Amino acid sequence: MPVKPAPFAYARAKSVAHAIELLAQPEARLLAGGQSLMATLNMRLSAPKLLIDLNHVTGLSGIAVKNGQLEIGALTRHAEAERSADVARHAPLLALAMPHIGHAAIRNRGTLGGSIAFADPAAELPACLLALGGEVAITGESGARTVKADDFFKGLFDTALGPRDVLTAIRVPAASKDTRTGFAEFSRRHGDYAMVGLAASARANGKGLSDVRLAFFGVGATPVRAKRAEDALSNGASADEAAATLASSLAPSDDVQASGAIKRHLAGVLLRRVAQQLSEARP
Ligand SMILES: Cc1cc2nc3c(=O)[nH]c(=O)nc-3n(C[C@H](O)[C@H](O)[C@H](O)COP(=O)(O)OP(=O)(O)OC[C@H]3O[C@@H](n4cnc5c(N)ncnc54)[C@H](O)[C@@H]3O)c2cc1C
Repeated sequence: MPVKPAPFAYARAKSVAHAIELLAQPEARLLAGGQSLMATLNMRLSAPKLLIDLNHVTGLSGIAVKNGQLEIGALTRHAEAERSADVARHAPLLALAMPHIGHAAIRNRGTLGGSIAFADPAAELPACLLALGGEVAITGESGARTVKADDFFKGLFDTALGPRDVLTAIRVPAASKDTRTGFAEFSRRHGDYAMVGLAASARANGKGLSDVRLAFFGVGATPVRAKRAEDALSNGASADEAAATLASSLAPSDDVQASGAIKRHLAGVLLRRVAQQLSEARP
């Protein structure tokens, strides 16, 4: 039985403009860390005719604070972000989430841009980007544009990226002293994709919270915000009261990991844990 990729051509992009030019060829696909793409090729779940390697394009990786935002280049490896003092300081939610992405070997090679572009509904980073109210920088045929995380994730493995777009960076608001973040997930083993997960951010407001953003993952086709629970926590409700609203936001289907009913139950458990994290000031 064939288990390795169908034949494909390979091109090494010299620049983002060169990658966009190469994407004009039929059935072309960008290659970043290859940690998701190569698996789909090896199992022949996809069979592009041309792979365009982004790994030698300069200027696509790196972490910087600019204009009150933390910007992370698309080709930045998970491992670099995991060890970055800038990420820990300015985007503590990402620092909490990074160790949950696969295993060390995957994080050494996989990229932040690849994870956001692939948009696996059980992946950690798309939910973190959404919880932080971040944005995605994209360059395409007609130039550069920015898409807010709230508008980026369209459906199952479907995003605002067009067929000739390159994701160049993600940006999240740099954390201030009032920023609170929380993260928790259930997975069968550490490093597995989550059965259900929750990434959250909020602002400390006196003894309470404001601007609460709760992004669940593993419960739908995209990361899902639980807006009634966000409002409840912002208005001083208890975690139990917020959890009681989740049925209006989350309708997880049964999958190979768990039934929808179990996922809904786990979502409530996660919300209680994360609400506790949001109530605690950063050390
Ligand atoms: C065993 C295993 C376990 C894993 N566990 C987890 C997990 O628990 N959580 C998790 O989140 N991930 C997990 N992953 C996936 C990993 O995080 C990948 O690194 C990530 O999903 C994709 O990043 P990549 O750089 O490898 O992208 P690639 O595999 O190279 O590409 C993925 C897709 O994104 C597109 N793409 C890549 N870069 C760009 C770009 N700059 N612009 C536009 N399109 C682009 C590609 O064309 C392709 O369609 C796992 C992977 C493996 C093999």
